[in-house]
Amino acid sequence: MDCNACEKLIKAWLDGELTPPQKEQVGRHIASCDACGSTAADYQEIAKAVRAFGKERAPLPSVSVLEAKAKAMAREEWIMVRSLQRVAALAAAVFLVALGTLFWSSSTHRQIDPTQVASREGVIDILFSNSDWEED
Ligand SMILES: [Zn+2]
Repeated sequence: MDCNACEKLIKAWLDGELTPPQKEQVGRHIASCDACGSTAADYQEIAKAVRAFGKERAPLPSVSVLEAKAKAMAREEWIMVRSLQRVAALAAAVFLVALGTLFWSSSTHRQIDPTQVASREGVIDILFSNSDWEED
C-alpha cells in the first residue's frame, strides 16, 4: 500500500469502517510510514476535539445550574406573590377607606340632615307652643 491509497483510507480506518484485510494493510502502512502515521495522529486529535466540542456544546445540566434556575424561578414566583399581596392590600385599603367614608358621610349627614333638624325643631316648637306645658 502506498501513501496515497493509505491517506484515503485513514479516516475510515480510524472510524472502524474497513474490512479486516484493509484494516490490516492500513495499520501496517501507518506503523511503518512516519507521514501517514502523523496524518493518522492528526485525524485522531481532530476526532477527539470534535467529540470534546460536542460534549461542550450539549453539557449535562449540573446541580448548580439547576439550583440557580430553581432559585430564579422561585424569585419570580415570590415577586408575583408579593405584587399580588400588594394589590390585595391596596384593594383592602381602598375598601376600608370607602367603607369608612360611607359610614362617616352617612353619620355626618344624619347629624346635619336639615329635615331631621327641622323636624326636631318642629317637635321642640310644638312642645313649647303647647300651652298645657307652660306654667303661668
Ligand atoms: Zn505513507
